[in-house]
Amino acid sequence: MLRQIQRRGIFTPRVLEAFCRIPRHRFVPREDWAYAYDDCPLPIGLGQTISQPYIVALMTDLLRLRGDETVLEVGTGSGYQAAILALLTRQVHTIERHPALADRARKVLEALGLDNVSVHVGDGSLGWPEAAPYQGILVTAAPPDVPQPLLDQLVDGGRLVLPVGSPGFQVLQVWQRSGETWQEETVLSVAFVLLRGKYGWKEEDTN
Ligand code: SAM
Repeated sequence: MLRQIQRRGIFTPRVLEAFCRIPRHRFVPREDWAYAYDDCPLPIGLGQTISQPYIVALMTDLLRLRGDETVLEVGTGSGYQAAILALLTRQVHTIERHPALADRARKVLEALGLDNVSVHVGDGSLGWPEAAPYQGILVTAAPPDVPQPLLDQLVDGGRLVLPVGSPGFQVLQVWQRSGETWQEETVLSVAFVLLRGKYGWKEEDTN
């Protein structure tokens, strides 16, 4: 798995080390353990997926974590991305709209002893104001446009990494806050499940 990630240009030693330390198979259904380290997303139930390892690595790398940050992840899913972040920063808050996925992720994270992750249930398109502001926010489902509450919950200099756009036309973006302005950079085309909720897609919109 490390080779897949390095081949595509991720060389940050701390990020690569986190990938070596987190057992990805623990976050996928047992029947898929044989494929857990393959170069692809995998189903995790309720129509959701654990992202391809390279995309997890790229989004993590784009946050440029040093180790002392409070980070918000929107879209807990399996909990794998949160586990990687937990090794790279001080405190992780992660929010998932499906209680069953949040429960399962919480159990795996606890079993691995990752006690600096708090798993919340709710509409992550609103962010998680209770623990804001954040040095980094990472979103693992795509809204139609960047949600303003997420921009507002960044500290000055903080970075938001997220996919944006409609199915078939999504791009990965980084938004960096500077006072009351945000500088945006588009990184590459991606394919994520839809972010639902107040600042996401409506239930009747389909992937
Ligand atoms: N980060 C996850 C992992 O490591 O397994 C992958 C997440 S999956 C690609 C996207 C997740 O976003 C799904 O679990 C989905 O239920 C969740 N989601 C979608 N809209 C949401 C919202 N408004 N608030 C919180 N979670 C949401």
